[in-house]
Amino acid sequence: MSAVSVAIATTWLLGLLMLPLLGSLLRSGVPGVRQWLDADVLLIIAMPLLLLRGRIPDFISIVVANVLIALAGVTLYAGFARFMHRPARWPRLFACVAIMALGATYWRYGVDSIPMRVVLSTGFTAAVCVAIAVVVARYRSAGRAPYLYAATTGVALIFAACQILRGSYFLSVNHVSNALTFDTTANVVLLCVGAAIMPVLLMCGMMMVHDTLLSEARDAVNRDFLTGALSREGFTSVARTLLAEADHNDAPLACLLVDLDHFKSINDTFGHTGGDQVLREFVALMRTVLRTSDALARIGGEEFAILMPDIALDRAQSLAEQLRNAATRHAVVIDGGTCTYSLSGGLAMRLPGETLDQLTVRADRALYQAKISGRNRLCIDERSPSRDA
Ligand code: GH3
Ligand code: MG
Ligand code: MG
Repeated sequence: MSAVSVAIATTWLLGLLMLPLLGSLLRSGVPGVRQWLDADVLLIIAMPLLLLRGRIPDFISIVVANVLIALAGVTLYAGFARFMHRPARWPRLFACVAIMALGATYWRYGVDSIPMRVVLSTGFTAAVCVAIAVVVARYRSAGRAPYLYAATTGVALIFAACQILRGSYFLSVNHVSNALTFDTTANVVLLCVGAAIMPVLLMCGMMMVHDTLLSEARDAVNRDFLTGALSREGFTSVARTLLAEADHNDAPLACLLVDLDHFKSINDTFGHTGGDQVLREFVALMRTVLRTSDALARIGGEEFAILMPDIALDRAQSLAEQLRNAATRHAVVIDGGTCTYSLSGGLAMRLPGETLDQLTVRADRALYQAKISGRNRLCIDERSPSRDA
């Protein structure tokens, strides 16, 4: 058995190994997994056809095998495109495979040229690898492990370069009677790299799926499902970091608690779904007013906590007032009706060495003051250190 055949057989075995792994990820519902599984199946069917060269008709072992590999390549790309929430554009992909089929047929039955067939297949694979690299690099969503996407882009580009190298190498050598038994070191090395393309890129895909599942699980715990603000759990963990940073930098930290006024009557008038819409739009509104460094959490039904790092009392107070004014001006359109609302807020500046609980207790006391003194107002805890303190 030639070294080249061993490489092809290894790819086939790796493809088989990937099958149950990809199958186990199918029920995750992550886009792209289905296409990666299909690509793997196509590869598993194609590899034995290559190995049977000389023992089965050339049409099957050359044309059909190459078309199957090309189909596996575009399906692999479609998986990455779907994973990145991009359209697969199947008509274009099938057109590329059709061109590949015509080329393979021509360079076997029109002009029988091994170098041209190798150039065709390596060029095609290189294009698939570049397309994968581009779609992965371009459409990575924020919050995903950047190293994983960079690594996938990197290996896809290295694979593309090796394929181009192999194609150029075949153009430069004469009298190749069989590409599979052509055992020069350069050919074997480049072919082994080529044989690793599908398993390695599938592995990258699976790692990205795991990363997605992990961050979705983290989000489910740390994010409020309705509004996208931090949940209580998420807030506690972000607050731990912000308090540690404030201690380390000896910097001020403000805590603002916000409660929407008479929310029960909003629910009574506009229904629970209407109330939900108000909550969602209110969080979106707060994001336009607050700084990106502020941590915003939904800590109860219509109660929110905001931690503002590195901020003086007057600036925190002005942001809180901006928030209150924006809320009173905000009209939420629900089923043709218009809902207006207001908020009450309690603001406290952190005292040296204070814990999150102690800080929020003081902000809550200020919020209570705002409620009992008439609502739609902001109260400041009197122990908050002022700007000049
Ligand atoms: P106050 O001005 O004193 O804050 O009055 P309020 O009616 O806003 O306060 P209260 O705490 O009595 O009622 C809060 C209401 O918020 C009651 C509850 O049904 C509603 N609520 C809690 N969670 C949700 C939610 O997720 N969606 C909706 N639509 N309503 C919610
Ligand atoms: Mg309320
Ligand atoms: Mg409340």
